[in-house]
Amino acid sequence: MTREENNTVGVAAAVTGNERVLTFGADYQVVLSHRCAYTCGYCDFARTSSPHLPSVKQMQRHHSIAKKQGVDQITLTCGMGIDTNFDILSGIKYLGYKTWTDYLQILCDTVLTCNGKRRRPLLPILDCGGASLSDLCQIRPSCPILRVFLGSADDNLLHTKVHMYAPQKSLANSLKRLQMPGQIGIATITGIYVGIGESRKSWGVAARCVSQLHEKYGHIAMFSLVPFVPNPFSPMAMCLPPTDKDLVDAVKIVRKYLDPSIPLSVELFDRPHLMRQMVELGVSDIGCCHIGTNTMLNIFDSEELISSIQEELSGQRVVVKSRNQSLLHFIHNRKLPTHLLDSKAEVDLAILLEKIYHSAQQSPNCIA
Ligand code: SF4
Repeated sequence: MTREENNTVGVAAAVTGNERVLTFGADYQVVLSHRCAYTCGYCDFARTSSPHLPSVKQMQRHHSIAKKQGVDQITLTCGMGIDTNFDILSGIKYLGYKTWTDYLQILCDTVLTCNGKRRRPLLPILDCGGASLSDLCQIRPSCPILRVFLGSADDNLLHTKVHMYAPQKSLANSLKRLQMPGQIGIATITGIYVGIGESRKSWGVAARCVSQLHEKYGHIAMFSLVPFVPNPFSPMAMCLPPTDKDLVDAVKIVRKYLDPSIPLSVELFDRPHLMRQMVELGVSDIGCCHIGTNTMLNIFDSEELISSIQEELSGQRVVVKSRNQSLLHFIHNRKLPTHLLDSKAEVDLAILLEKIYHSAQQSPNCIA
């Protein structure tokens, strides 16, 4: 299949013959900084000390650890609105970079370069809040996938401790941030939290808004539902997580309004008893298994993990596999919006694919 053909990754492609494909992400997170210009109720960044910005050499070391742990993706995370923060600017200058964007780009390139000719290249996923269009254009040849999380589509949360000190989390602002990667052709993962006090109506609103953007730009690689987990160092430390019923209801509503070509992911590693039901409701990804961060490693055996999920789903014709190949397939084969055809976006995509595969473009021999 070529990029010119229609994008069919998603629920439809997740069914091969009579078998469903259920994917998961094996993730290693590198927190670049805990600094953030805002404070969301469910986040502990504002109350956690920040690590030093990793250098290229440290990033190479992270790659090596992540590779040994058998992960498929390295998520680079930081707070929002920090590109003009004095400490951040001092840090990147010390490391030899002029701008925050230069630094992010070199980190992504480092991950791709360290992959060598791995059959399953680790994908750098940039989860660094908002960036301007020109910054995104600069990063485009080095960034296979962005994570731009909506958080919620309920603006009433702006008047509660959830988003009182995070005005950038209004639906309009979040959609603007999500639209930008689409405009310039960068594949993007998005999603919302379930259980932070949002209205049920907002689940459908989020799904419809994301679907509209995807219809226009075709850039949404995955929509993720993340059940709220109280974080001990956050303002919402004493709030309760959502019930199983809340989560099931959210999945039903989101799946109803979400474009069927967008894979729906639900973080289910804490709730394995729901997997069977979720598969029946059209969930095609069970979220990320967090193998480690730059401060902590978890013991992980991918074969054991897959067989435990398979056991949980015994009797259902489901194949469990890493999402790595389906993401690669999406990045390589999706249809760019018409205004980007024959533009620099296509050149940047070719450069990116060359960096991913370390050779001239080749199609990953895979689907979902
Ligand atoms: S914007 Fe992101 S990093 Fe900043 S407080 Fe909110 S969730 Fe945390």
